[in-house]
Amino acid sequence: MQECIFCKIVNKEIPADVVYEDEEVLAFRDINPQAPVHVLVISKAHHSDLAAAVRADAGLVARTLAALTGIAKDLGLEETGHRVVVNTGEDGYQTVQHLHFHLLGKRRLAWPPG
Ligand code: AMP
Repeated sequence: MQECIFCKIVNKEIPADVVYEDEEVLAFRDINPQAPVHVLVISKAHHSDLAAAVRADAGLVARTLAALTGIAKDLGLEETGHRVVVNTGEDGYQTVQHLHFHLLGKRRLAWPPG
């Protein structure tokens, strides 16, 4: 995916503040954080959204979420609580078409979301 900004981060073509990396998963701080901790957790493999990723490789989605729970623990979010968000499509306000899990924490988040 040549034009995908997150693929470029995976390929180290553009920089990111990486907090976790393994063979399949990358996590980096959001460039426009909405909370004191705001990390994006992605699979290195490109899938455009959650449904596409589940169809292609549901196990990878599960492993990405498993990594996310470890990252949440490492960042001290297990005790305080946190939120995991997947924006999908136009109504979901998805702006980057590479599946990513927002991991937000270290402030009391409102509900319902805007
Ligand atoms: P979404 O609107 O759910 O698709 O989220 C995309 C997120 O990617 C937004 O929160 C952006 O701030 C974030 N973002 C876009 N470009 C970068 C980048 N180069 N590095 C880190 N985060 C980014």
